Amino acid sequence: MNAPATGLTGPAEPAAGPRDVVLRARDIRVEYDGERPTRAVRGVSFELRRGEVLGIAGESGCGKSTLAYALTRMLKAPARMTGGSLTFRTREGEELDLLSLDDEELRTFRWTRLSMVFQSAMNALNPVTTIGRQFGDIFRAHRPDMGKDERLSRTRALLEMVGIDAGRTSSYPHELSGGMRQRVVIAMALALEPEVVIMDEPTTALDVVVQREILDEVERLREELGFSVIFITHDLGLLLEISDRLAVMYAGEIIEYAPAEELATRAAHPYTQGLLRSFPDLTGVRRELRGIPGSPPDLRAEPPGCAFADRCEHAFDPCRSSAPRLLDLGRPGGPWTAACHLNDPGHRSAAGAPTTEGRQS
Ligand code: SF4
Repeated sequence: MNAPATGLTGPAEPAAGPRDVVLRARDIRVEYDGERPTRAVRGVSFELRRGEVLGIAGESGCGKSTLAYALTRMLKAPARMTGGSLTFRTREGEELDLLSLDDEELRTFRWTRLSMVFQSAMNALNPVTTIGRQFGDIFRAHRPDMGKDERLSRTRALLEMVGIDAGRTSSYPHELSGGMRQRVVIAMALALEPEVVIMDEPTTALDVVVQREILDEVERLREELGFSVIFITHDLGLLLEISDRLAVMYAGEIIEYAPAEELATRAAHPYTQGLLRSFPDLTGVRRELRGIPGSPPDLRAEPPGCAFADRCEHAFDPCRSSAPRLLDLGRPGGPWTAACHLNDPGHRSAAGAPTTEGRQS
């Protein structure tokens, strides 16, 4: 997908012009309350540009789904946002501070400006109501000016847009296959022509053939309708294929952010390199697959240094005591940022350590 490049730099200056950015997240922090709170999202910043696909990758438990809920303001106790800002620039040029929207404003915003597609279509659909009725409910709530005939014809058009026979308006969710249900959920998410769609593992529960069909469908619709996508999954191979830019999360932080096409061969962070080694090469070249040993840190205690240090084969002294900053690597096609001391000239030269450039195997 060759949409315009996104700017994302962590707390540093954004690279994108303000008019191109549709969603700006700054220093987002989320905790799960408890005797010892878990810091699930620790200072995530990014910018999503109009019309692009931003992939967010990482192992389960890295905070990517919690981030999705924070972006949509759908966090529920014991999770709560403890810091950060979220700004949305509408296609009309209005800047909305998402954290200050009241419940009614949020309800409107969620369908008309930003919508979500989550993993389980069955949970998103009402099992005892026909598909047509569920579309009708959306239109009745958000487009009260629409008459019955218009609601029905719009529903039929949306179903056809995602490759489902328009006659299915009278079907119940259980009468559809898993792939069809997920298509229905995608059509619902697009019903009010949002500017941003957040997709959290939208095809994980489906077999690979159906997954491919749905991804192709999403790509076609994005080109046709021009919305931006934040696509969240543990499947880095999939993200490399469909994203313009990719943010890799580890232990609640973005540890590398890069153009997707280049990341596959030039990842700068040892964790990203490990992820890339753990799935088959997209080009079909045979190679040894290696998982990343160990497990992520317990986020009930803030790691004193790099959160990846216990699993990193390149760890050196500073990694245990100081947290690496997300730095722009100055690579062509950037911004390309990574949070690793090996890419920080200060630490690297002090330790006599080499850069991670070219280390990926
Ligand atoms: Fe590894 Fe150190 Fe870089 Fe962390 S900062 S990824 S431990 S080399």
